[in-house]
Amino acid sequence: MKAIRRFTVRTVLPEPLRQLEELVLNLRWSWHHETLDLFRAVDPALWRSVRHDPVRLLGEVAPERLARLAGDRRFLRRLQDTAEDLHDYLTAPRWYQTRSEADAPGPPSPPGAEPGGAPSAIAYFSPEYGITAALPQYSGGLGILAGDHLKTASDLGVPIIGVGLLYRHGYFSQSLSPDGWQLERYPPIDPNGLPLTLLREPDGTAVRISIGLPKGRDLHAQVWLARVGRVPKLLLDSDVEDNDQPARDVTDRLYGGGGDHRLLQEMLLGIGGVRAIRAYCRITGHDAPEVFHTNEGHAGFLGLERIRELVSEHGLTFDEALEATRAGTVFTTHTPVPAGIDRFPRELIQRYFGGPNEEDDVPVERILALGAEDYPGGDRTVFNMAVMGMRLAQRVNGVSELHGRVSREMFGGLWGGFDTSEVPIGSITNGVHADTWVAREVLELAAREIPAVVESGRGWEGVQKVREGEIWQIRRVLRERLVQDARRRLRASWRQRGASEAEISWVDDALDPDVLTIGFARRVPSYKRLTLMMSDQKRLRSILLDPDRPVQIVIAGKAHPADEGGKRLIQDIVRFAGSEDVRHRIVFLPDYDMALGQLLVQGCDVWMNNPLRPLEACGTSGMKAALNGGLNLSVLDGWWDEWYDGQNGWAIPSADGLATPDRRDALEAAALYELIEEHVAVAFYDRDSAGLPRHWLEMVKHTIATLGPKVLATRMVRDYVEDYYAPAAASARAMSADKHAGARALAAWKRRVAEAWPRVAVEHVESNGEEGPQVGARLSVRVVVDLGDLDPGDVAVEVAYGRVDGADTLVDPSYLELGGAEPVEDGRLRYVGEVPLERSGAFGYSVRVVPSHPMLAGRAEMGLIALPPAPSGMTNGDLR
Ligand SMILES: *Cc1c(COP(=O)(O)O)cnc(C)c1O
Repeated sequence: MKAIRRFTVRTVLPEPLRQLEELVLNLRWSWHHETLDLFRAVDPALWRSVRHDPVRLLGEVAPERLARLAGDRRFLRRLQDTAEDLHDYLTAPRWYQTRSEADAPGPPSPPGAEPGGAPSAIAYFSPEYGITAALPQYSGGLGILAGDHLKTASDLGVPIIGVGLLYRHGYFSQSLSPDGWQLERYPPIDPNGLPLTLLREPDGTAVRISIGLPKGRDLHAQVWLARVGRVPKLLLDSDVEDNDQPARDVTDRLYGGGGDHRLLQEMLLGIGGVRAIRAYCRITGHDAPEVFHTNEGHAGFLGLERIRELVSEHGLTFDEALEATRAGTVFTTHTPVPAGIDRFPRELIQRYFGGPNEEDDVPVERILALGAEDYPGGDRTVFNMAVMGMRLAQRVNGVSELHGRVSREMFGGLWGGFDTSEVPIGSITNGVHADTWVAREVLELAAREIPAVVESGRGWEGVQKVREGEIWQIRRVLRERLVQDARRRLRASWRQRGASEAEISWVDDALDPDVLTIGFARRVPSYKRLTLMMSDQKRLRSILLDPDRPVQIVIAGKAHPADEGGKRLIQDIVRFAGSEDVRHRIVFLPDYDMALGQLLVQGCDVWMNNPLRPLEACGTSGMKAALNGGLNLSVLDGWWDEWYDGQNGWAIPSADGLATPDRRDALEAAALYELIEEHVAVAFYDRDSAGLPRHWLEMVKHTIATLGPKVLATRMVRDYVEDYYAPAAASARAMSADKHAGARALAAWKRRVAEAWPRVAVEHVESNGEEGPQVGARLSVRVVVDLGDLDPGDVAVEVAYGRVDGADTLVDPSYLELGGAEPVEDGRLRYVGEVPLERSGAFGYSVRVVPSHPMLAGRAEMGLIALPPAPSGMTNGDLR
């Protein structure tokens, strides 16, 4: 009989073991090896069978075993030490607390604030989090990144509060049908059986968050609190009795359902998330966040809720509240793939935020305008969450330099009139959390050989003096571990697909711990091209079966449940990998999750990635491999485009821009085969008299020495603090000080400037010094502008100058603000300035008028610009 309800009964631990519960409840164990060792010691066999899930361990361990441990003095001493270590980790000052004022740009901090002007708290919103395989609340890179962000914030002492949803089914676990088709299972989770506690009011009742829905209904949620080291993470859960069944199902699964379902999830995340933070701060006395960071567009409604708060509680107008909200909001965009961006039909937004459900303070027309694609090429029927995210955030970034450039092009329409290079979208390249992803053997080697890196993050060159034999030895251990675990997984998968033991005896010899191992694991959207390596099966076979330089490939990945095409690709791979002649050299391992990910990035010699450039915004799995001494073999996309240096791996040439997709695939696949045969396999099998691949190991050392400091999430989170959080906090303070006087003034100024802008014009431009100029000369420029109703203080008149291309377009121009502002006839103003001619060659300049205000984050922020009537404003010269 099937149970109709399931729940978890928590073990009551004997008094001397109580601290085990504290250790389990703080997810720091997910990246802290000593704590994991302690859990293992509770019951080593059980630890293996519960797949390293400490909550299950404590749920299933026999009372007799606990009783014995409660009297085991050595165990109790270890428990005490581990608990004290956690306590120190949670309370001692860390990087953020000791960051000096001098490190930080911007105004000095007010009394009582964190040093360096940094915010006293930051709210971080994400629809998914990958913290540990035991909490399957993630589907891929976005969630893993969010998990690494929180863990690293904890390590650095950055006062982040995470906000997300608790999905009762999490992401699916994947298995295969007998004919290789992906099957999905959504194992239910019971929050009581997870390291979570319910957020409660001081009187003990569970906190209730509610948001209004059409027809007078409300959506209620409770809030679970997870502790990620020092970082609290609030997870909203709609599975509560006050809700009817459809409302209970809002948080049933990650990215489940279509339009309405998804919109409700996002309303709960954004609006409910802000309310959950308010409740958490009220109950615990935690500082209110000064900065709100939204990880992709899904949580964008948080801006609407903060506007509502400011209007209803502080009497601001919508526009004033918008300024105050924008100032403290950071938006990170994560994908250049249009299908990856959340868009809803406008009617849906109208239905949920309009009609009887409309808040007077937040008119639906204003909401619709925030998400409107009202720029050339936009779709007027949709509401775009990323576009809203950008309009609600003063600071926006992509996740690698290349992705920043691609995003500036993709969203440039929002700042029409400006060159793409000036679109105010920056970038911070993603990073990975070392303690989560790096093999213990490697961490221990690093602690022994290059302690400075572990202590201060500096001194990576030290890796050069580590003995090569030692590195090679660890690589062998990790490869062997992968091979063993892969066999176990293969056997389980084949058994589950209906094969008998006799039919799968070959699995005992699948893969070889001494063969060059290439890993390829990722989600399976089409742009990642799971099956590119199979473009020419004959050639692939010959690579796998090469008698002198064999290669083995380990593949994993989940297709989105609704993506039939992706499932077909998986089936193609699975079928090929089942062929008798190659099945010992190419395997597909089902159910790619964090645990399998760790095994793969640690055990593979080469990490392969062949997306369609430039659709991989960043990619992080290759960074994990690099930190473990793996080498990357990848298309120059995302992070690899930025940091490939010719010696730290291999670049698969990409044929972007080439005519047909098929042709492009064929060319790139051929280049991939050639790289593997001629370079990768050659370097791996070229051994010296000691049996070491010298050149390979040089590349490994070079990889670690050069990429190590870049790919770490500590670098990423520090960059966010310095370049985004601290400036956003400064802006937010300037807006809110003195009863929001700054926000009121900025909103009024923006309205005045926007209304007056159509009359702003560049009337006349002249310069001298262009006749036969030489490097070092100066060009003097005079410009007459009509500012209409605006004052000189409202604008900047600038010369853009520098190199020009064949079409007279300025390439990476410099800008010089002109001064003077002398009245000439009819209220016009003359500006003057001198442009230095610093470089020889084709040179050009133009002028522009842009709004200028100390509270703007950049010149392009308002999307307003006045240019000279083309083309007379442009003068070209040839410098000698
Ligand atoms: C690191 C990781 C990802 C993201 O890696 P990409 O390089 O972006 O594909 C996805 N899933 C898992 C399980 C991971 O560990």
